[in-house]
Amino acid sequence: MKSSDRLEKVAEFNSSISAHSVRILLEANGVKAMVVGDVMNETGLELVSVYIHAEQVETARVIIRDIPAASEVLIPSWVCSCGAEVDAGFHCCWSCGEETEDPSSEE
Ligand SMILES: [Zn+2]
Repeated sequence: MKSSDRLEKVAEFNSSISAHSVRILLEANGVKAMVVGDVMNETGLELVSVYIHAEQVETARVIIRDIPAASEVLIPSWVCSCGAEVDAGFHCCWSCGEETEDPSSEE
């Protein structure tokens, strides 16, 4: 027994529904996942976290990248080429509809 018992947080959500749908998707792909904080989230004050075993982090990240719901929290706020400021969690510009691929590459 080495690091296999260690858990790592791979995603955070402000709704337990999103967190659980990610957990279900991960488990459908063979990654055992755990949702933490969904009880506290009933107050709407706590983020709901998805934890997985450390050794499966790489696999989980690839899966999560392909989940639209996960992008809610994985995309930071960004500035569109049209000049509009887009809030974190949106990959489409609210003003012109342009999509961002990699917000961090913005000049
Ligand atoms: Zn725009």
